[in-house]
Amino acid sequence: TDTLHIVGGGMAGSEAAWQAANMGVDVVIHEMRPQVKTFAHQTGNLAEMVCSNSFRSDDSEQNAVGLLHWEMRQAGGLIMEMGDLHRLPAGGALAVDRDAFSEAVTAKLKAHPKITVQGAEIAEVPEDGHWIIATGPLTSGALAEAIRSKTSADQLAFFDAIAPIVHAESIDMDIAWRQSRYDKGETEDERTAYINCPMTKEQYEAFIDALLAAEKTEFKEGETANYFDGCLPIEVMAERGRETLRHGPMKPVGLTNAHDPQTKAHAVVQLRRDNKLGTLYNIVGFQTKMKYGAQTDVFRMIPGLQDARFARLGGIHRNTFIHSPTLLDPTLRLRSQPNIRFAGQITGVEGYVESAAMGLLAGRLAASEIMGLSVADVPPTTATGALVTHITGGAEAKTFQPMNVNFGLFPPVDLKGGRKNRQARYKAYTDRAKADWTAWLATQDGRVPA
Ligand code: FAD
Repeated sequence: TDTLHIVGGGMAGSEAAWQAANMGVDVVIHEMRPQVKTFAHQTGNLAEMVCSNSFRSDDSEQNAVGLLHWEMRQAGGLIMEMGDLHRLPAGGALAVDRDAFSEAVTAKLKAHPKITVQGAEIAEVPEDGHWIIATGPLTSGALAEAIRSKTSADQLAFFDAIAPIVHAESIDMDIAWRQSRYDKGETEDERTAYINCPMTKEQYEAFIDALLAAEKTEFKEGETANYFDGCLPIEVMAERGRETLRHGPMKPVGLTNAHDPQTKAHAVVQLRRDNKLGTLYNIVGFQTKMKYGAQTDVFRMIPGLQDARFARLGGIHRNTFIHSPTLLDPTLRLRSQPNIRFAGQITGVEGYVESAAMGLLAGRLAASEIMGLSVADVPPTTATGALVTHITGGAEAKTFQPMNVNFGLFPPVDLKGGRKNRQARYKAYTDRAKADWTAWLATQDGRVPA
């Protein structure tokens, strides 16, 4: 039939339902709470915020997540409308009154004539009909297993292990150099996919001291599991012995400092290209549970990263997500079974706002398909487009980890003398995005709410 079924009424599923229903499609939301619980959710409300009550920066000129707010507002997004309605004073950030917010989202969806909410856990990947799976980072075990058997074991992760990601342009290349270990790689592109930062013995010892002293985040109750396989946090490695890192991710072998070939580095920190645009690099093997403030302090001790700007900091979390770069097409459909779309954090985006944005897109795309309408590709110059392009193809597939929206995902802007003036550059990104998003929305005029 022509009904759209959405599994999971969280940030993504709620927004997807709203968008599709407003386009005229009948929607059923299947939400397992409160019958089946997760370790983080407390209520039976739709769009519950599980941790902080912030949608982060609301600055749509200088901040990529603020831009995402703007795009969703332009598209009549429910999550933004209810967030704005229940806004709390928080400076430049958009903080919301979480209970009032999720109650309002729930009421709006339940009152919508095109939407039905069913309280049931979906445990299988449906064969027929139109579906969006938006079950989030805490997808129920049964459904996760079903997705896993439908795809394959290495296509679904239960944890993320995120190494910090650095904007390439903020790395000091007078200190760092490009080289793969032992010059491995078939092509020049592969041989230059790594950036290396050298350390003397003194620098290494000071770095280990800082790691050991840094403040760490504890796992939440119910969150712990066997995360140690292959992704030990660097501070845990340092606790096991002061030389452990020097024999692990910081080993100096197979590398020659291009700026000083005679001197053998005591240790080397390697960064690996994180996206096809080459604007982002992750620090290899540096997943961590250090607090964010501590991370920036400690990582800026690395020679070459003294002025590093971070597109995202490291972390390790309980997080169910699929390997979108191989599994999904650019419109978020499962390549092997296009009646299924994915949306939200399970696609490998990270954050309330990012998850809602992928819901917004999936809802519109699914509804258009059901109604037989064609949709132009979302411009990759918009925040929504940059995110979906990243997860479905722009990310380096081998090392795919969940991503926040940030300007490193956008095709670079060409500004005369541009690099120096970051404000002007960010403004250029957001101006371009707003124009392109407005034009993209206009292609759907008449099918969507004002
Ligand atoms: P969710 O909002 O989790 O929605 C998924 C829904 O699917 C849930 O309601 C769930 O009950 C339901 N569901 C799951 N399985 C099934 C099933 N089989 N059948 C039917 N229903 C099902 N992001 C931030 O921006 N800030 C934070 O502070 C933050 N803190 C987080 C803390 C924790 C502990 C976790 C796990 C994540 C956190 N996130 C945070 C990340 C993420 O952005 C949020 O989890 C966000 O809610 C994800 O949106 P979503 O719609 O993809 O998933």
